[in-house]
Amino acid sequence: MDVDLIDIDPNWRALGAGLTLNGATLRAMKMLGVLAEVVDKGHVHGGRRVHSSNGTLISEAPYYRPAAGDLMAGGGILRAALHQILSARVLELGTKVTLGVTIDAIRQAHSRADVQLSDGSTATYDLVVGADGIMSKVRQLIMPDAGAPEFTGQGCWRAIFDRPQHVRANWLFVDQHIKIGFNPVSDTKMYMFILESAPGNPWRDAAEWPEMLAERMRACGGLVGELAGTVTAHSMPNYRPLETLLLTEPWHRGRVVLLGDAAHATTPHAGYGAGLAIEDGIVLAEALEANDEVETALSAYAKRRYPRCRDVIEHSLALGRMEMAGANAEAQMAASASLFALTRAEF
Ligand SMILES: Cc1cc2nc3c(=O)[nH]c(=O)nc-3n(C[C@H](O)[C@H](O)[C@H](O)COP(=O)(O)OP(=O)(O)OC[C@H]3O[C@@H](n4cnc5c(N)ncnc54)[C@H](O)[C@@H]3O)c2cc1C
Repeated sequence: MDVDLIDIDPNWRALGAGLTLNGATLRAMKMLGVLAEVVDKGHVHGGRRVHSSNGTLISEAPYYRPAAGDLMAGGGILRAALHQILSARVLELGTKVTLGVTIDAIRQAHSRADVQLSDGSTATYDLVVGADGIMSKVRQLIMPDAGAPEFTGQGCWRAIFDRPQHVRANWLFVDQHIKIGFNPVSDTKMYMFILESAPGNPWRDAAEWPEMLAERMRACGGLVGELAGTVTAHSMPNYRPLETLLLTEPWHRGRVVLLGDAAHATTPHAGYGAGLAIEDGIVLAEALEANDEVETALSAYAKRRYPRCRDVIEHSLALGRMEMAGANAEAQMAASASLFALTRAEF
């Protein structure tokens, strides 16, 4: 297939700092042929330590170095490093990339889509794929009544820290009010997230993020409290209210189809939003290869993807509701285990 790719970002950057890769996402990376680079630039590990927010150890599954295909393991990578790997691959495959433009209009005719871009150019395609994220412009163009993403009641803080060498797997700090996790993302760095209830979805000024993050960390013990004094702008502190969206299938209209967050945005409870988007790409390609009729292929694609995306979103939202209701660490870890069990099924 000949592919043109456009992105609104003139610099084609990765937004955000770190990314958790669960076992299922690593399986998808392997299918794309980029797993070796991901392992090299990121960090792949098995094991988990769970603490209470004051730092007391609750349970431990010791660190191990996973063998290929171990879906119980996971990992992490800096978003910029993953973007570098995937964008290099996109260029290597001969994709024509145009940056700093968006799509202004799509006119559909039988078996083709005529696209008008913001730079004034027009082109005709057999298929247009809208992989333009949770606020998807393509979704607005082809499904104007699809509705907007909904706030879930929680917010997520994220930051990057130097990784003490003994933090080699996931470390969680959990109680009825807060959930904090560390995940190694390279030889030297680790990613931290904090999930909290955010009633009323308060506005949080970016200039205040470092102090607001440090304040939350100071209230905790163990590694979290120890690192509170090291939060600076270099930690790339970031706050995002959590939003979700799930379109019922099919995810296409004529020759335009949606993929990733544009069709189904989950909360980060399974560290799987990017993984689901990558799986979508693989399944879409397989469906197009297996069916001569594009309409049949697009219907088959969303039919195969919908139940998995729905289940991940519903379990993630249920876990979020438990966290907001103040469930204890044991109950939260049990719900988390059943969410992760879902991700390990074939896709
Ligand atoms: C707090 C938080 C933590 C998360 N943590 C994880 C995690 O640990 N692991 C994980 O797997 N997932 C995680 N996710 C989810 C993950 O970030 C998303 O699911 C994933 O990025 C979706 O990929 P996508 O390609 O569909 O969309 P995006 O990553 O949003 O990419 C969309 C692309 O389209 C471009 N674009 C946007 N609008 C236009 C337009 N109008 N015209 C042209 N181009 C456009 C953008 O520039 C961008 O390049 C997290 C999400 C949040 C909010």
